[in-house]
Amino acid sequence: MNNVNKTVFLNAINCPTLGWIIRNKGFTKPLTISDRFLMEQGRTIGKKAQNLYPNGAIIYAPNFEENAKKTSDMLNKRIMPTLFESAFLVDNYAAKADILELIDNKWKMIEVKSGMNDKDEYIDDMAYTTMVMNKSGFDISKISLFLISPDYRLGMDDKDLFREIDHTDDVIEKVKEFDRLWDQIDNITSTDEKPTSSLRYECKYCKIFNDCIGKKYKNHLFDIPRLGKTKFNTLLQSGVTFIEDIPDGFSLSAKQNLVKDCVKNNTQHIDKNLKKDLDKIIWPSFYLDFETYQTALPLLPDTKPYEQIPTQYSIHKCSKPGHIVDHFEFLSNPDGDYREDLAKKLILDLEEAGSIIVYSSFEKRIINYLKGLYLDLKKDFDVILERLVDLEAIIRNNYYNPEFHGKTSVKVTCPVLIPEFSYDGFDISDGLTASAIFAYMMLKKYDKKEIEKHKQNLLKYCKQDTIAMVKLHEKLYTIAN
Ligand code: SF4
Repeated sequence: MNNVNKTVFLNAINCPTLGWIIRNKGFTKPLTISDRFLMEQGRTIGKKAQNLYPNGAIIYAPNFEENAKKTSDMLNKRIMPTLFESAFLVDNYAAKADILELIDNKWKMIEVKSGMNDKDEYIDDMAYTTMVMNKSGFDISKISLFLISPDYRLGMDDKDLFREIDHTDDVIEKVKEFDRLWDQIDNITSTDEKPTSSLRYECKYCKIFNDCIGKKYKNHLFDIPRLGKTKFNTLLQSGVTFIEDIPDGFSLSAKQNLVKDCVKNNTQHIDKNLKKDLDKIIWPSFYLDFETYQTALPLLPDTKPYEQIPTQYSIHKCSKPGHIVDHFEFLSNPDGDYREDLAKKLILDLEEAGSIIVYSSFEKRIINYLKGLYLDLKKDFDVILERLVDLEAIIRNNYYNPEFHGKTSVKVTCPVLIPEFSYDGFDISDGLTASAIFAYMMLKKYDKKEIEKHKQNLLKYCKQDTIAMVKLHEKLYTIAN
């Protein structure tokens, strides 16, 4: 039987089934390239935090048990002023502390995160580790969080990468709460049989939803857009788990009622304004899609941590719905800063008139970003912004299909409305993968041949995204008429 660790404990609080699965089986889904990128990024940040303590030591041991013994020994003897990745094992509980620093003969614990914003879940993380350390017989005098500083820029010293937040009091309060669950969580996650799963609000964000409770429920309550926890629980407590069972008269917004009615009657909703909104489009129109990357450690001078850097775009020009007359594209070289080239070519490629069709508010955000960077191009970007038409907003406001299951992203609407259209056979078929691959290229993780292959795949993927928009738009005209 595996020990309880932080992931098991924190998940089991909300769902015993999930805690049990993680403890007994782990997550079995293979890591995607973007998962791997995030993990590597986290390790790099952890290493940079360790660099701030030149006298610190990592405890090496062949297994967790040995590591915990050595940690205990070193902490008791106070041999080193700072320890990294110290392990703790007590009863069936295991924990690791990122950094322990000896100050005035007392230990301070530091949790290192690669995010920039403080979150409640970080308090939970630190509280779990503190609880296990306390139970192992070690008192912690201070508990701090290291987050990435928004003021860090490429080339700065490692000490400027972090901002520290003292969370001692919050964590001590949380430990009191967690302490009461000590026996319970170990027991419920160590039974022979997996605890029976039952629908709860936390399922909405569960990584294994589709393999667990999601299998049982087709039109579940999460398909109702923006259904809050209180209303969800009210329905659940009265035995309602399917949209079909929501009683008439239950207080929902107009949009939520519309989704409910479409599911109950198995019909699509076509608003009279769909045609009106589509008719506002000025031809020729330009279908635009950007790709970007974000890294915790900036890769370009004068950019912030996690700044969203546009790297490529695809534009399809159409003379009428579905009638492509031209294609334009841009892909940065992964050896420097090509944002200005991208901005200038974008302005040329979008010509001077005609609607610019995008899907979601993302493209608008990127155009505003470019406008802020290159003030000499401000006027051009102002005109571009006025020409933007958000196809997702048109769908959201005017059309619903029960197969959308409450969502309107292009990866949901496209397969429903154009089932024959797919990304099958594409090496890159989502934005996160495209982003991770570009970041890896920037970080020189690939040789020349691999870079060429990835560049072709990136161009192919982005192009497919704008073709998807062209086809979706064409389909909407058919529906509206
Ligand atoms: S889908 Fe729900 S019941 Fe299943 S493991 Fe996740 S949170 Fe628990």
